[in-house]
Amino acid sequence: MEKQGNIRISSENMMPIIKKWLYSEKDIFLREIVANASDAITKHKKLAELGEAAAEEHYRITVSTDDKAGTLTVEDNGIGMTEEEVEKYITQIAFSGAADFVEKYEKAGGDGIIGHFGLGFYSAYMVSENIEIYTKSYREGAEGVHWASDGNSTYTIGSCEKETRGTKIVMHIAKEEAEFLRESEIRRLLNKYCSFMPYEIYLNPKGEDDKPVNTPKPLYLSEPKDCTEEEYKTFYRDTFSDFNEPLFWIHLNMDYPFRVKGILYFPKIRKQAELERGHVKLYCNQVYIADNIKEVIPEFLMLLNGVIDCPDIPLNVSRSFLQNDRQVQKIAAHITKKVADKLTELYRNDREKYESCWEDISTFVKFGCIKDDEFYKKVKDIIIYKNLSGEFRPIESFFGEEVSDEDAKEGKEPQAAYYVSDPGKQAQYIKMFKDAGLDAIVCDTYIDPHFISYIEYKNPKRVRFLRIDADVAGALKEESGADTEIEEIFKKALEGKQVTVRTEKLKDGQVPAIINVSEFMRRMSEMNSFYKMGESPEDLTLVVNTASPAVNALRGAAEEAQTLAAQQIYFMALMNYRQLNAEELGAFTEGAARLLETFLKN
Ligand code: ADP
Repeated sequence: MEKQGNIRISSENMMPIIKKWLYSEKDIFLREIVANASDAITKHKKLAELGEAAAEEHYRITVSTDDKAGTLTVEDNGIGMTEEEVEKYITQIAFSGAADFVEKYEKAGGDGIIGHFGLGFYSAYMVSENIEIYTKSYREGAEGVHWASDGNSTYTIGSCEKETRGTKIVMHIAKEEAEFLRESEIRRLLNKYCSFMPYEIYLNPKGEDDKPVNTPKPLYLSEPKDCTEEEYKTFYRDTFSDFNEPLFWIHLNMDYPFRVKGILYFPKIRKQAELERGHVKLYCNQVYIADNIKEVIPEFLMLLNGVIDCPDIPLNVSRSFLQNDRQVQKIAAHITKKVADKLTELYRNDREKYESCWEDISTFVKFGCIKDDEFYKKVKDIIIYKNLSGEFRPIESFFGEEVSDEDAKEGKEPQAAYYVSDPGKQAQYIKMFKDAGLDAIVCDTYIDPHFISYIEYKNPKRVRFLRIDADVAGALKEESGADTEIEEIFKKALEGKQVTVRTEKLKDGQVPAIINVSEFMRRMSEMNSFYKMGESPEDLTLVVNTASPAVNALRGAAEEAQTLAAQQIYFMALMNYRQLNAEELGAFTEGAARLLETFLKN
């Protein structure tokens, strides 16, 4: 005889609210139902170990779809429930658990409960118009129990025939949710949510040689010393469907004072433009929660691919709570430290590999430093840059002695470190540097402009960065005063152009003039265009080299020749700095033709 009962909690109002919030994530119901099955098995296993329940040879969860009947069924051979237990756990706890969830969700102000954890059994009503439970407790002499409800205010309960121990949840899928009757869709969801659950899960099993859809003992749970390189690579391929081999990985394996297990992989990044988010999947006791939870995993680590299992994180709380949770902060700090340790270890023990991976990992490291001071402190010695000869050097080797406060008061600046942002465009400057035995670092990734500013900010007394075309490095020039004669010739010839003229006697006489752009102004203008605040005018200085025979030949020449030659020298310098615009190119070509003509006539 089936009894009828009323559900005490006013569940009529709950479902519309839950549906509205979880609309795009309603598929989590399958995770909740399968996780319950897995918990029921764990409970039975524990009792069996204590000798309080009969031993079981093969724990398993079976998921089946039945298109004709319109049902999706999840069956386990776990602990099962007696009639009283169903009343208590399902009718009371599951329903009040959902009410509790709704309340928390409302309090969280819509900012969400991570992975919508904690909604439980009730979530299956998001896709079902009716749910039946067939269950039989592990207790001796227990009878089968049948329960059914449409999720609103009433349910029926009574005894039934059930041979085996455990619970079978039959979900009568609503018409508009028919996708959940498709085997391929259910397989996809099991892969997403249940691939590391601890007991074998079978989907629509047919016979003896069925294979479980999951991996009950994922590699990350093993001791690092027991894992082979091949296993790490296979796990990476299977978990991230990335057929490129990872560069290296970090196996997290901590039990105390909190539990964190997982593997973080550094992926190969072929092109800058491809620098997209990685996937760090968060699990709780082998149950998938969500990807890229920035409250738990430091944001810069999201560039990696990885699996992290943190059983201690309270997941049925709001995101903003997690953000301020001490435990969570400690876990995040631990993960950051492990990553820094791994990088340092690689730098110390296998420099060659470190350098060969650097292009792939440098953006990650730089981004990590900018985002996280603690991380910067740990890796600052192992940040490397290529110099003009293509060799890697620690960035610190370009720093100078600390400028004392007194010296700073007298205007002494920290050591200048020169950098190249585009070796092709800055070839002339590079040649001059190399000829003079000077060195510079190559900063050609998109994060470098931000990163060198950050390095300056962290080391204000030891370094300032200047692009190689920002000024004439001291070692390139002789001591000498201004040459007013030459300066005047150029000023007159370049009247009306946006350029300041200055003379220097360089050690090298080959180059008649070079363009310099003040570092400060250039950075300002780059920032403006970065924030789309419009283009700012160029602030160019023409440095005329009084050691150049061509420049010296100007002295005493006819005024017309002086003007023409000075303009050509200006255009040549400009060309080594940037592309000429149409007007400049026209003027340069015309001037060159006139020069040739005069040259050939004489
Ligand atoms: P939670 O799992 O968070 O406690 P649920 O709403 O998912 O909340 O489930 C309520 C309770 O119902 C569980 O705590 C458990 O006691 C019982 N239960 C649910 N599914 C099963 C199952 N497959 N086997 C045995 N008991 C179950």
